[in-house]
Formats: sequence, C-alpha cells, structure tokens
Amino acid sequence: MNCKETQANFDERLDSRLDVAYSAAFDAHVADCPTCAAQWRAYAGVWSAVARHVATEPSTGFAERTLRRLDETLTEKPRGWLAPLWRWALAGSLIVTLSGAGWLGWQRTHHTNMQVEAYITAQQDRLEDFDVVASLHLLNGNNPHEKANVN
Ligand SMILES: [Zn+2]
Repeated sequence: MNCKETQANFDERLDSRLDVAYSAAFDAHVADCPTCAAQWRAYAGVWSAVARHVATEPSTGFAERTLRRLDETLTEKPRGWLAPLWRWALAGSLIVTLSGAGWLGWQRTHHTNMQVEAYITAQQDRLEDFDVVASLHLLNGNNPHEKANVN
C-alpha cells in the first residue's frame, strides 16, 4: 500500500470498515512510514477528541418547567389589596415628576432659543459678507453655467 492509498482510507480504517487483510496492509504502512504515521495520529486524534466532546444539554424537564413558569407569570393576579393603590400612587408621582421635568426643559430650551436668535441677528451682516465672497467668482466670468449659455 502506498502513501496516497493509505491516506485515502483514514476514514474507513477509523470506522473499521476495511477487511482484515486490507486493514493489516494499512497498519503495516503506517508503522513503516513516518509521514503517514504522523498524519494518521493527527487525524485519529481529532476524531477521538470530537467523540469525547459531550454536548451541553438542558436538565430533565427544563422545557416543561420553563413553560409552566411562563404560564404562571401570564395568569398571575396582583397580590395584596394595596397593589392597585400603589400603582395609582406610583403613576401619580411619575406624572408630577415628568411634568416638572418637562416645564424645566421647556424653560431651558426657550432661553437657549432666545440666545441663538440674538446671536444669529448679530451675525447677519457677517453672513451677508460671506455671500458676497462666495459670489465673487461670478465677477471673473468663472461661472460654468454662464459659459455653457454663451457657447
Ligand atoms: Zn506513507
């Protein structure tokens, strides 16, 4: 048996699918050939590691327990006679807090808007200067649209 034939039969040898004589020839070649021996060790090593690997599985009854808990959560009634009262108290305090925050936010935004408007008014002249500078190329005849119209 040559190297190519030996290496082509790694799978069959691993699964003991070779007949006795062929299996003996395979083993004899692997014993004599260091190249095939090294490759056979690597190949068999990988598959034995895969075989040793134990997949993590959920414990017995995991699915049933999870489904039961979900079902309990969905059908659960609020406990204690105070529960609705507590909810209303919480909702009320949330409304007070949010409206207070909203009022403060509005004041701050309004103040900021007034500052921005004052700044823009003060800078209006400069912005017009920029417009003039940006249009200077029109005076030199560098306007591509103008040339296109002339030609
Ligand atoms: Zn070989």
